[in-house]
Amino acid sequence: MDFALTPEQEDLCRTLRAFAARELAPRSQSWDKGGEFPWDVWRQLGELGIFGFRVPPEYGGIASDFLTMGLATEQIARGDFSCTAGIQLAGLAGEILGRHASDEVKRRWLPPVAAGEAIVALALTEPSVGSDAARLVCRAERDGDEYVLTGEKSGITLGMAAHATVLFARTTDARARGITTFLVPLDLPGVTRSPLRDMGGRLIGRAVISLDHVRIPVSHRLGPEGGGFYEVMRGFDFNRIIIALACLGIAQVSLDETMAYVKERHAFGRALARFEGVSFPIAEAATQLEAARWLCYRALWLCDHEMPFTKEAAMVKWLAPKLGAEVVHQCLLLHGHYGYTDELPFEQRLRDVIGLEIGDGTAEVMKIIVARELMGRESLPY
Ligand SMILES: Cc1cc2nc3c(=O)[nH]c(=O)nc-3n(C[C@H](O)[C@H](O)[C@H](O)COP(=O)(O)OP(=O)(O)OC[C@H]3O[C@@H](n4cnc5c(N)ncnc54)[C@H](O)[C@@H]3O)c2cc1C
Repeated sequence: MDFALTPEQEDLCRTLRAFAARELAPRSQSWDKGGEFPWDVWRQLGELGIFGFRVPPEYGGIASDFLTMGLATEQIARGDFSCTAGIQLAGLAGEILGRHASDEVKRRWLPPVAAGEAIVALALTEPSVGSDAARLVCRAERDGDEYVLTGEKSGITLGMAAHATVLFARTTDARARGITTFLVPLDLPGVTRSPLRDMGGRLIGRAVISLDHVRIPVSHRLGPEGGGFYEVMRGFDFNRIIIALACLGIAQVSLDETMAYVKERHAFGRALARFEGVSFPIAEAATQLEAARWLCYRALWLCDHEMPFTKEAAMVKWLAPKLGAEVVHQCLLLHGHYGYTDELPFEQRLRDVIGLEIGDGTAEVMKIIVARELMGRESLPY
């Protein structure tokens, strides 16, 4: 067993940690309060290469492993949690388009995604269908060399800022086998969008995307008809680990700041750090973060070595967002009444991290997957 990071990974972590502290953290609270989408920051992130991890090099990406992508995400989350959604979506676009898109679609979309100049969202959830996504109702009807899309997608991260979306629609009535994936530019006639008002993640936001007889060429289908679930979505599992590491990154920076604070702040004639009621929760949080982090790294290592990792990915996807929220909450409390103000970052971080207890699959859905991997289909609720 070798637990060491490579010198290149160590260097990247140092660079991104410094970037996150210098460029992201100071602006994070103002992004939370609204305003224009910060494309300048997206381009900076693109220049750093972090949107290119899963984009093939011939389309502007960099050849990288999954572990490096996870390490980078952890560091960016220390500066601003929402920015890690950009890494996820660029990674998913790189994987999905890289494997399933026509050359025309790859050439049009992958270079700007890697450069931080375009965003490709991912639209699966619908107003009446979330966890049970195989029952989605958005339809795609073939009409000559085109498909005609009609339906509504809801809760789509970066849905207002995105230029295009990977979209799942029904081409036949055969449940999961009837679902096909498309790349849909969002400036086409018949597309309308409206923002959701979320408690957190306000920099990126989520949107409802409506499609009213939207025509796209057949060349924009990703993978075969009916392959949406079993061929395209199968490549998604790595993203659960990337999400988990974002949650651990935001928790770790909160813990680091809290350790510094409790050594400085005094009560009852001593530093807060001298009270076990203060130091023990910190020790527990540090232990749990360390344990979760190594499960994430191992899951990414399995992924990089093309070994099964579905179970581990589902394990960290339920564990890390919950742990992240608990640790940030504890850190907020250890800052006393200052922690409750919006002058300190904890309340925003708490609002942000809770989103990923739901986004990309809830804890219950993840536990269904873990149970299925452990006990087989006899454990499934359907
Ligand atoms: C921050 C955020 C970002 C998101 N980004 C995107 C995105 O970019 N693209 C996209 O397509 N979607 C996105 N979503 C939507 C997200 O994927 C869904 O919200 C999620 O899959 C849950 O679906 P639902 O909200 O319809 O809940 P439901 O499926 O209605 O579930 C409601 C509750 O019931 C529980 N439940 C459901 N079935 C079971 C079961 N069998 N056993 C036990 N409990 C069960 C759930 O765990 C949950 O607690 C995002 C959501 C959030 C919050």
